[in-house]
Amino acid sequence: MNVYDSTRMLDILKPLGYLAVHAQDDADLLILNTCHIREKAAEKVYSELGLVRQLKQAKARRGGHMIVAVAGCVAQAEGAEVLRRASFVDLVFGPQSYHLLPELIGRALRRPGGGVLATDFPVEAKFDHLPEPSAQQGVTAFLTIQEGCDKFCSFCVVPYTRGAEYSRPVAQVLTEARRAVASGIREITLLGQNVNAYHGEGPDGGPCGLGGLVRQLACLPGLGRIRYTTSHPRDVDDELIAAHRDVPELMPYIHLPVQSGSDRILAAMNRRHTADAYRRIIERLRLARPDLALSSDFIVGFPGESDEDFQATLDLVGEIGFAQAYSFKYSQRPGTPAASAAGQVPERVKSDRLAALQLALDKQKRQFNEACIGKILTVLLEKPGRHDGQMVGRSPYLQSVHVATAAERIGEIVPALISEASANSLSGSLVEAVGT
Ligand code: SAH
Ligand code: SF4
Repeated sequence: MNVYDSTRMLDILKPLGYLAVHAQDDADLLILNTCHIREKAAEKVYSELGLVRQLKQAKARRGGHMIVAVAGCVAQAEGAEVLRRASFVDLVFGPQSYHLLPELIGRALRRPGGGVLATDFPVEAKFDHLPEPSAQQGVTAFLTIQEGCDKFCSFCVVPYTRGAEYSRPVAQVLTEARRAVASGIREITLLGQNVNAYHGEGPDGGPCGLGGLVRQLACLPGLGRIRYTTSHPRDVDDELIAAHRDVPELMPYIHLPVQSGSDRILAAMNRRHTADAYRRIIERLRLARPDLALSSDFIVGFPGESDEDFQATLDLVGEIGFAQAYSFKYSQRPGTPAASAAGQVPERVKSDRLAALQLALDKQKRQFNEACIGKILTVLLEKPGRHDGQMVGRSPYLQSVHVATAAERIGEIVPALISEASANSLSGSLVEAVGT
């Protein structure tokens, strides 16, 4: 989502005369778009700011001026603290304030050294104030359709940093998608912190869910593939399952985080679903779309997690079988209920559990990739590969696939017979006769 937000910031800045640069050192405006989800991500901002300070000073020595801004969720969560720890920062603004950038930059220029702070959640919806996105590069794009979260899992900062749940109206999403397709985009990934909690205003004035939105997007000529991320088990409804059954453009791959396999821990996390409820959802999804592959997020070492609880997570992994997954050590986030809960797990135990879980998940990923050998998978060709005459694209399951073909074919969705699999990618050859 930060990648998407950064492109939208560029859209706002272009009319002011700003252009993206490749080398940071001569920038007139440097924005760090930050993440606060785990401590590591947040701390990275301050070490990065040390380097930015040197760039700003060097530019000043050359007689220039660099405006330094900190954006995103660290800005939202830490606000004035960022200005205190890094007084050379000119501007701090949260993820719901970036439509105000022209005004904020004006204020920063009028008060050099003053430190402008914009971390309120404005009453108006940011999306109503953004300019139309400019033409996109490449063949895949992100499109934020939903933001914020009302679920308040006990470990998570998102409801505090991104604010309350908001869904963009269907018409706005379709307009943005049409523009993307007109500029050559073949695949759109719909984004939201809880993307399947989407309930945007539909053409009839009533709410429209993610399944309904996917069906409307699938009607756009030229849009070959639709994905969405991240979804929550609680919000997988019949309509979405039916869309997986009926809409061929919707890729048979879901990132559906479960976090833990232990009901005790899931309850303490305030996830409001059990491990069995998760199993049943997967069953229904697989019934609707038998070739569906799964990805998930896991947290190990949540406060109170015992060896038995962790074993329940390993058992669930064994039962479901994931094509891919992300796993994290629990990170105490200031202001969240779990941060002050009893039973914090020692770092060493967290590390051991993470290693054991990742071993199991890596093995499943390798098995999933190897099971693709001998199959024909469609590949959306995205860019040249490392070797001459080789292009790289993605399978329906987001695996990178290397094939020998011409660069002119970038943007095409082509069938490929998979002949090799490694831990992170596949190789194959095009099967022209099958048609696209
Ligand atoms: N809305 C999605 C996840 C958004 S946050 C969901 O509910 O599933 C992305 C991932 O970061 C989470 O799935 C979780 O695994 C991880 N995460 C969030 N807070 C964390 C914390 N305090 N410590 C470790 N991992 C965390
Ligand atoms: Fe965070 Fe996801 Fe829980 Fe919302 S549902 S609080 S984004 S983990």
